[in-house]
Amino acid sequence: MLKSKHSHKLKRVNLGTKTEYIVYKCFRPGCTTYFARPIVVGVSALCWACGKDFTFAVRNLEQVKAKCRKCTGRRDRTEDVEKIDIASDNILKQLGLKHE
Ligand SMILES: [Zn+2]
Ligand SMILES: [Zn+2]
Repeated sequence: MLKSKHSHKLKRVNLGTKTEYIVYKCFRPGCTTYFARPIVVGVSALCWACGKDFTFAVRNLEQVKAKCRKCTGRRDRTEDVEKIDIASDNILKQLGLKHE
């Protein structure tokens, strides 16, 4: 059998019965690989929308079908920027460099 490294087409599935047990399973034909939540981040994944490779990120954890940044939209990015701005604002206040 061919065991080439491929980008896994990951889908979020719940393997648990009484308690939730989330894993990210590859849906490529013949592939039985799946990843538990903490180790899936950083895995080479295949976008369900455009079919291109991308690196599975924290923001993909809540998606049922993992999609790349392009297909998810740019909202994450602006949110990240806002958070950074607020953080640096607080730092400036703490240092006494910025006054209300
Ligand atoms: Zn796979
Ligand atoms: Zn995509």
